[in-house]
Amino acid sequence: MEKKQFQAESKRLLEMMINSIYTQKEIFLRELISNASDAIDKIYYKALTDDKLVFDKDSYYIKVTADKTSRTLTIRDTGIGMTKEDLENNLGIIAKSGSLAFKKENQSKDGHDIIGQFGVGFYSAFMVADVVTVISKSLYEDSAYKWESTGAEGYTIEACEKDSVGTEVILKIKDNTEDESFDEYLEEYRLKAIIKKYSDFIRYPIKMDVSGK
Ligand code: ADP
Ligand code: MG
Repeated sequence: MEKKQFQAESKRLLEMMINSIYTQKEIFLRELISNASDAIDKIYYKALTDDKLVFDKDSYYIKVTADKTSRTLTIRDTGIGMTKEDLENNLGIIAKSGSLAFKKENQSKDGHDIIGQFGVGFYSAFMVADVVTVISKSLYEDSAYKWESTGAEGYTIEACEKDSVGTEVILKIKDNTEDESFDEYLEEYRLKAIIKKYSDFIRYPIKMDVSGK
């Protein structure tokens, strides 16, 4: 297993997310579903030019699974997946996402305006989760990899098992605090409402499964 540090800028954004007092925490789901949809788009476009790859509409979807017993929320997609290098480059480094330059210029004290106007992406998961695990298998690589982070301390990457190409993002939902409840992010009605509000335009099916007490 390899343990790595986040790049300085990523770490700053991450800390902003972890300590976020932003009220619209629900937008994390919009960000993760939009990443899942982008990943399916990539395999779709690839199939258009690659005869060996067939895009069978029914095999491509996003699935949101909540398990109250383990307090996990999983967003799974059948998209293009990430290689080990992709996991490093895409989830360990934020600078390439053009929005950071904008963030620097328009920094507000607590980051409110920025989060509201811009997709902050993957790291928004840390607003509601204290552990984020990404299990991914790329179309371009035989082995699957697991990326895991508990926040600003860094992340680990190791080889793992995954049968099909695609990505699973598993959020260990935070425990409730005196001021704030996170239970809602494991409730079917709430998840459905968030998806309806922000992800209605997504053109792949979004399936849902909620279990546990
Ligand atoms: P953005 O979507 O604006 O590029 P994000 O922080 O949301 O920024 O995601 C960073 C990158 O991580 C994406 O550009 C993509 O390359 C990769 N990524 C994130 N989620 C997935 C996923 N579910 N499948 C494949 N790649 C992903
Ligand atoms: Mg994104």
